[in-house]
Amino acid sequence: MPAQPEIDALRDAAIPDRALFIGGRWVQASDGGRRDAVSPIDGATLTTLAEATAADAGAAVRAARAAFEDGRWSRMAPMARKTVLHRFADLVQSHALELAVLGVRDNGTEIGMALKAEPGSAAATIRFYAECADKIGGEIAPTPDGTLALVHREAIGVVGAIVPWNFPLMIGAWKIAPALAAGNSVVLKPAESAALSLLRLAELAQEAGIPDGVLNVVTGAGPVVGEAMGLHPDIDVLAFTGSGATGRRLLEYSARSNMKRCYLELGGKSPNIVFANAPDLEEAAQAAANGIFRNSGQVCIAGSRLLVENSIHDEFVRRVVEIAEGLTVGDPLSLDTDIGAVHSQAQLSGNLAAVDKARNEGGTVLTGGKRIREDSGGYYMAPTVVDRVAPTAALARNEVFGPVLAVTGFADADEAIALANGTDYGLSGAVWTADLSAAHRVTRAVKGGLLHVNTYGGSDITVPMAGMKQSGNGVDKSMHAFEKYTDLKTVWMKL
Ligand code: NAD
Repeated sequence: MPAQPEIDALRDAAIPDRALFIGGRWVQASDGGRRDAVSPIDGATLTTLAEATAADAGAAVRAARAAFEDGRWSRMAPMARKTVLHRFADLVQSHALELAVLGVRDNGTEIGMALKAEPGSAAATIRFYAECADKIGGEIAPTPDGTLALVHREAIGVVGAIVPWNFPLMIGAWKIAPALAAGNSVVLKPAESAALSLLRLAELAQEAGIPDGVLNVVTGAGPVVGEAMGLHPDIDVLAFTGSGATGRRLLEYSARSNMKRCYLELGGKSPNIVFANAPDLEEAAQAAANGIFRNSGQVCIAGSRLLVENSIHDEFVRRVVEIAEGLTVGDPLSLDTDIGAVHSQAQLSGNLAAVDKARNEGGTVLTGGKRIREDSGGYYMAPTVVDRVAPTAALARNEVFGPVLAVTGFADADEAIALANGTDYGLSGAVWTADLSAAHRVTRAVKGGLLHVNTYGGSDITVPMAGMKQSGNGVDKSMHAFEKYTDLKTVWMKL
């Protein structure tokens, strides 16, 4: 962990105006459009970004296609791709502090978390897939009559990656690293409000030796650049993380254009289920608070619903409230801060409206529910706990993506499972119990791609990240991610 003076030395560093990265060159938007990058820390303008047009997105796709077809990367020896990707991971690691501070200034995540989850995770991800580059291959099928059937695993072509603002480097790396390791070219679209660290990442990719045109980064509006990518006939795969509403649009774009494959990592309303016989209720309370309040709840797998067995409800919730009230919310670039800024004014307003609605639907706000540190000019919200949330209330069903915990009691395991599965989502969740059978039963019955027992938020590049129900489809992370970025081709040979 760096010392505070090292962070402070970077906190006001000037950030140059940024352009689009297309075909290995930095170019302006074709109509000269620009957008301010605003910091959630204090509302100040950090720099300006090129605001691409649909035509610019098309230029990026053309550059990616040309690079793919001429084989400068797609037909490079896998071991050589591995070497370049390792160099890329080394550069991300050696620039970790710079990348983390830049990202925090742009999106407001507390620096302790950002260091681990952003450059730390991105470097580990790139390194993991670098290692895989010369280890994924085809098969020879065991045909009944011994005829030779070769099953090749091939790069697909041009991957469009569209990512959100909460963890741009981590989620960006989850898409681009396996796509590149398999030999594809990529057009990456960052979120409008958190592009700076990804633009810096593109510079590091070029420095590492990723050939021009293989990785392109286009900043701009979702409904312009993202739509142009979604409808583009020459993008083969869309790899997306973001909201369900945008995910639906991408499926429509695909259907209206070339039926490109769409892999969607969407939101969640993940249940943290605490039984009275949990081995350590204090640890469970700490994890319940961490699971919803870190990064101001702007975490796809946030444990936003706390389901507590009725017999311990009051005492357990009292402890969670106590922990919430003890958290330091403030300057995300201070190492003393537990919780940084909410990403934007719009996000903050949405969070506050969700609390108001919960109150109107019968919930009891035990703590928080308000904006704080308004004088800073930034966007901060007190960690919020709403008790007695009815399963039918909006707060029990809809993702807020803010530091708002919905608490509901349950009588037994059957009721806990029914409550847990009572939303359209199926992303994550946890069970806290000392009863091994209950742990198995509940984790098997709850719909979710990432479940925990007596812990929350376990994460590593070696394990898949996948949603069920309306939390999405397809897998990020682990070797399984290659399914998205490769095609299987069988060649029968008469000998
Ligand atoms: P969002 O859907 O608004 O934006 C995500 C990306 O889509 C951005 O780059 C945006 O510009 C782009 N976009 C917006 N409109 C578009 C359009 N019409 N066509 C094409 N692209 C468009 O989501 P957000 O607010 O940036 O992110 C928050 C959401 O992401 C939450 O719902 C959260 O749960 C989800 N998320 C999921 C995961 C996961 O792995 N499952 C991880 C992080 C965030």
